[in-house]
Amino acid sequence: MIHLHNSATGQIEELRPAVDGIIKMYVCGPTVYDVPHLGHGRFVLVYDILRRYLEYQGHGVIHVSNITDVDDKILARADSENRQPSQVAGEYEKVWWKVLDDLNVLRPTHVPHATAYIQEMITFISELIEIGAAYIGGDGVYFEVSRIESYGLLAHQSLESMRSGARVEPNPNKRSPIDFALWKNTPNAEWAWESPFGRGRPGWHTECVVMAQDLLGSSFDIHGGGADLAFPHHENERAQALALGSSFADKWVHNGFIVVGDEKMSKSLSNFVTLPELIGEDDPRAFRLLVLQSHYRSPLEVNSTLIGDAARALERIDNALVRFDRHYDASISHVQADSEILESFGQAMDNDMDTPLAISILFQGITSMNVSFDNGDLTKAIAIAKAIEIVVRVFGLGVTRSELVLPDAVVELFLEREGARQRKDFAASDRLRDRLLELGYGIEDTKEGGQIRKL
Ligand SMILES: [Zn+2]
Repeated sequence: MIHLHNSATGQIEELRPAVDGIIKMYVCGPTVYDVPHLGHGRFVLVYDILRRYLEYQGHGVIHVSNITDVDDKILARADSENRQPSQVAGEYEKVWWKVLDDLNVLRPTHVPHATAYIQEMITFISELIEIGAAYIGGDGVYFEVSRIESYGLLAHQSLESMRSGARVEPNPNKRSPIDFALWKNTPNAEWAWESPFGRGRPGWHTECVVMAQDLLGSSFDIHGGGADLAFPHHENERAQALALGSSFADKWVHNGFIVVGDEKMSKSLSNFVTLPELIGEDDPRAFRLLVLQSHYRSPLEVNSTLIGDAARALERIDNALVRFDRHYDASISHVQADSEILESFGQAMDNDMDTPLAISILFQGITSMNVSFDNGDLTKAIAIAKAIEIVVRVFGLGVTRSELVLPDAVVELFLEREGARQRKDFAASDRLRDRLLELGYGIEDTKEGGQIRKL
């Protein structure tokens, strides 16, 4: 079974699903007021890869990821563009799914929208008020943090040190500066909902805790998100759930941030690149491979050189699968996938998703497959190729045959040229290379044989 780093304990722990064979995972989704940035791309890929791996292991995964479609940022954009907030949210949600489809991210099992849960949130807040864990301040409803002894668990700080270190501006409506808002009263706003505590909008921390528990129950296996969400967002979700007696998430999983140059990518710095800008330039799988080449908890550096390297590495994978495809026929269908490769792959992934190691196992496999094909050891080559194909699929790096953009005629010529090169018939080899060039395909000769790509 997979072991994952749990931010709540700081330990790498075995995942033990409460229901055998079913893994319940909640991942905080985007606030839809702008095009997604690289940080979004990283988190969706990290949890997509985790989900695909758990499914490959035979578990059912209930993957819930929300859309925050009520938020001050959406309202601000709507105001400045003289539009309805729902139009803004609708537009950027469309962009979101388009980018996720381009990245080959599996759709979550459930995609709750905050605006569809307003009544549930009002009921939830009322319950918190009833038990004395929340109170009505002048401008909304606040959660009384001192009610939760273990508050600060995800921030790795004690309640006491948070209280004394709070740098929040004093707010006369709050009993303590670290109390947080569950409901914000906006009596004059057009975009607001009626509630027993006044006309207004729910807070973001309440949104996720209500939707997660509605769809996954009061306890579930994994709560994921970017490291920047651990505090205060996840801490506050957890506090509300605990106040009402839920055990909530068993494992808190957080992925690291994106680094562009030497700095954390930020909208306030000039190093900001949107996700569609990045993946529009190249094969979108290059970004996925880059994400896989770093451990999910480490900072991830992104620049055009690294994306270019990843795109070239993809060609090795595609060429390996083309080679497999060309050699495949019914006579070798009984050959089992190489168990050694699959075992090492599983060990790497079970160890807190060590995808950098798993990727190096994949590329070593490609090298051995090519050597086996060159030596004429077809059975071994096919066994390795089958293992490679499985790993590629689990990582979401696969393309269907037609997407390899290598028409049959091109593959024929390429293989013919490979044969000529192996026979050291250089005249024929050069002629075939020129013919491929005319068709718009380049060949690069490597130790492992020729690599073909569209020019
Ligand atoms: Zn959330």
